[in-house]
Amino acid sequence: MRRVVLATTNQGKVAELRRILDGLDIDLVDARAAGLAAVDETGATFLDNARLKARAAADATGLPAVADDSGLAVDALGGEPGVRSARYAGPEQDDAANLALLLRRLAGIADRRARFVCAAVLAAPDGREWTAAGTLEGTIAPAPRGTGGFGYDPVFVPEGGGRTAAELTPAETDAVSHRGRAFRSLRPAFIDL
Ligand code: IMP
Repeated sequence: MRRVVLATTNQGKVAELRRILDGLDIDLVDARAAGLAAVDETGATFLDNARLKARAAADATGLPAVADDSGLAVDALGGEPGVRSARYAGPEQDDAANLALLLRRLAGIADRRARFVCAAVLAAPDGREWTAAGTLEGTIAPAPRGTGGFGYDPVFVPEGGGRTAAELTPAETDAVSHRGRAFRSLRPAFIDL
C-alpha cells in the first residue's frame, strides 16, 4: 500500500477521491492525519494554488501529495469570483454573503454563462508533478434554489438541465462535477508514482 497525502481537511473531498482511486493500492491520508499546517492560497490561478498546497504537503511529509483548488468563473464578470470564490464578499463572510454579492453584480445582466473550475496536482517528494483540470459549464440563476450542496450551488445551473446544483442528488453531482473530472483524469498519475 502506498501512502499519499490529500492536502485538505474537507471530508467530502477525501471521500470523493477515495471512490475515484478505488482499486489502486493507495492509502489516502488527509491533512489532519498527516499533521499539515494550512497553506496561504496566494496563487493567481487555481493551478498555482493547487500546486502550492500539494508541494508544501509533499515537502512537509516526504510522501506524495495531492491537492485541488476550485471555484466559480462568471463570463460577464471577467472570470470573477475565480480564485477568490471562498472569500468573494470578504474574509469574514460566508456562502450566503458570497452568493448575494454575485447576484447583485449580475443584476440586469443577460449573459449568465459561468463554470465551476478545478485544478488538481499530484506532487512527488522527488520533484515530479502531474496536473489535471476539470470544468462544469452552466449558467447563473436569477435567485437561489435548492438546499443541497454548498457554496454557489443554489445559483449554479449545470448545462443540459434546469435544476440548480443544490437541487441535484449527490450522485448526480458526483457524475459531472469539475472536481470529479479533474481527479479522474489524475488517476493514471497515481499508477505512475
Ligand atoms: P476550495 O477548492 O475548496 O477552496 O473551494 C473554493 C470555493 O469555491 C468554495 O468555498 C465555494 O465557494 C466555491 N466552490 C468550489 N466548488 C464548488 C462546488 O462544487 N459548488 C459550489 N461552490 C463551489
